[in-house]
Amino acid sequence: MKRREVAIFMEYVIIKHMKTEIVTVDINNIDEKLMERAGVLIASGQLVAFPTETVYGLGGDALDPEASARIYSAKGRPSDNPLIVHIADFSDLERIAQEVPIQARKLAEAFWPGPLTMIVRKNDRVPYATTGGMDTVAIRMPNHPVALELIRKSGCMIAAPSANTSGRPSPTRASHVAEDLDGKIPMILDGGEVGIGIESTIVDLTEEVPMVLRPGYITIEMLSEVLGEEVKLDPGIIASDDTKKPKAPGMKYKHYAPKADMIIVEGEEDAVVSYINEAAERKRSEKVAVAVIAAEETRERYCADIVLSMGRRSREDEIAQHLYGILRQCDELNVGAIFSESFSTPRIGNAIMNRLLKAAGHQVIQV
Ligand code: AMP
Ligand code: MG
Repeated sequence: MKRREVAIFMEYVIIKHMKTEIVTVDINNIDEKLMERAGVLIASGQLVAFPTETVYGLGGDALDPEASARIYSAKGRPSDNPLIVHIADFSDLERIAQEVPIQARKLAEAFWPGPLTMIVRKNDRVPYATTGGMDTVAIRMPNHPVALELIRKSGCMIAAPSANTSGRPSPTRASHVAEDLDGKIPMILDGGEVGIGIESTIVDLTEEVPMVLRPGYITIEMLSEVLGEEVKLDPGIIASDDTKKPKAPGMKYKHYAPKADMIIVEGEEDAVVSYINEAAERKRSEKVAVAVIAAEETRERYCADIVLSMGRRSREDEIAQHLYGILRQCDELNVGAIFSESFSTPRIGNAIMNRLLKAAGHQVIQV
């Protein structure tokens, strides 16, 4: 650890238990005074967790290396895993990028504010503490009134990774944030359940061909249509083994994993249902509590201790929105084994399955 990191770590040891204020924000009638108070915390180098349209973020002043070090410390995040910088105005991108690629302008025009993060070369204003030592920086303009107001009131650009303990599922409600960070940060802004539920799409614009480093709500097809050119998917995130490293440092870490062993079962509906029911019965005879993760359309076909519905398969947005909450629920219910249906839905199936496969440690059974 570097000296500054040691100092900030010690600060936590000394404070040990910070009182965390959890405040409800009415997103239709945002309390200005409250947002000013939250903004002052950010501007003074402290951390505030806040809702975005994707997941809850843990925010700090992106240009203050000590604030970034506090984020890593509160999350227990490996310090080589860079943070995404959240902005409220396109001109902020110009302030921190070495140059703004034409593709960034086109994509911002089409998708900002929204669930798209762009990677560009950084200039000297951005500390390496925020980019995990990289010469590039990830930037996004969130589409959430509380997030945008917090950025404006703080007068800062806000570095914010997901507001979970490193390795746990990303938080989609303020209560998830509190589970992980209560006593470690001064404030959580509770803006209710998020709309999208999975993290932003990340597109790298620093190479010849734009490349998606993390799939999300904005698909490759959507990007490619706006840019009028080919967009690639980072081959490192498809590999289930270590043969290819993902380009986004964060994608290599074990993620989202519930405590219980999880298996995804893929195939025709009838075959999946019988396989899971038989496997659940076997586990039960071994006195292991089983959870099944299913779509609303098929949930009634399972006879396990616990059947959790991800929502309607015909409404893939519901599945994305419920995914992380359900993984957290499996931990709360203390099950010993989890069997999940596959959710390769038409539009954002890639993004959903990317998270689910990681949660299952890539254990998939074809039936
Ligand atoms: P989170 O903020 O928790 O959603 O994680 C941010 C993700 O963005 C991680 O997977 C990071 O590795 C990735 N990321 C952030 N900055 C960069 C960058 N400059 N280059 C590549 N990946 C990045
Ligand atoms: Mg995260």
